Amino acid sequence: LINIKKNDYAFFDQKMNQEIKQFTKMEAKLDQAIKNDEFIIYYQPYYRGVSKELYGMEALIRWQNPTKGLISPAEFIPILENSQLIKKVGLIVVKKVVKSIKNWLDAGYKVVPVSINLSARQLEDNNHLKDIYQIIGESGIDNSLIKFEITESSAMDDVNYSLKVMNKMKAKGFSISIDDFGTGYSSFSYLQKFPIDYLKIDISFIRNMTLSSDGKNIVESIINIAHLLNLKTIAEGVEKEIELNELNQLGNDFIQGYYFNPPMPAREIEKIYS
Ligand code: C2E
Ligand code: CA
Ligand code: CA
Ligand code: CA
Repeated sequence: LINIKKNDYAFFDQKMNQEIKQFTKMEAKLDQAIKNDEFIIYYQPYYRGVSKELYGMEALIRWQNPTKGLISPAEFIPILENSQLIKKVGLIVVKKVVKSIKNWLDAGYKVVPVSINLSARQLEDNNHLKDIYQIIGESGIDNSLIKFEITESSAMDDVNYSLKVMNKMKAKGFSISIDDFGTGYSSFSYLQKFPIDYLKIDISFIRNMTLSSDGKNIVESIINIAHLLNLKTIAEGVEKEIELNELNQLGNDFIQGYYFNPPMPAREIEKIYS
């Protein structure tokens, strides 16, 4: 901070001001998108690695923008997370997922559970979680058809609080996955205490798995730790047959990724079911 001229401060202020304006503008656009019902849910199936039997699917949101087309959640989830809007959108996601499941059940399909991603902001608000449970409860679908995905970093943020939330979820019959496993810092004693069911091995480890023996050893260690803790593993972002084969050889349980299917609209999922 030595030797910074007055102008530099002015420049910094201006830039910050611009960023705040941009952010506020984007927030207003997202708020309008909520009102226009522009968010849609894609579903990405995941399968048993060895038998290749359909096991579940993950709900992944997209923004269907009337002028820009389909917008990736990477572009707007972080903005939603910085405001209260993530909760509004979170409830929309749950409502849409529940509706899809009901449609699939009505059509007579053998429906598999759907995983819903929860942001830290959602997790920390007990009333919001109650709203989520209520929407699912009122829908009449069985809670066992819903799984929640909680990132490793948000689960470890306040472990005692997370433990309470997770115990409540489990008592209601929901399954829990730890998302992006390996990218945060887990305390093994808490991994053992958490009433979780699945570890999702982060895509970055899957990418590196076939590139070096270190990469493979890391994935093997994650799978072994999970199994020691009586958890099942879901490998994210599997694109190649060699990755599938190595994961099967290492004893991984479930496979998600472009190798099988990309995230798809509900309509496309009907083709998988029928
Ligand atoms: P995530 O939960 O880690 O989701 C996995 C991401 O990997 C998805 O990106 C998926 O499309 C992508 N993916 C799946 N298979 C492959 C593959 O074989 N190769 C590659 N390269 N990528 C693959 P997507 O759909 O863009 O979602 C990004 C993130 O946005 C998600 O990461 C999640 O953190 C967040 N997100 C998505 N939907 C929701 C939601 O409804 N609520 C919340 N809170 N967050 C969401
Ligand atoms: Ca996820
Ligand atoms: Ca993930
Ligand atoms: Ca991720």
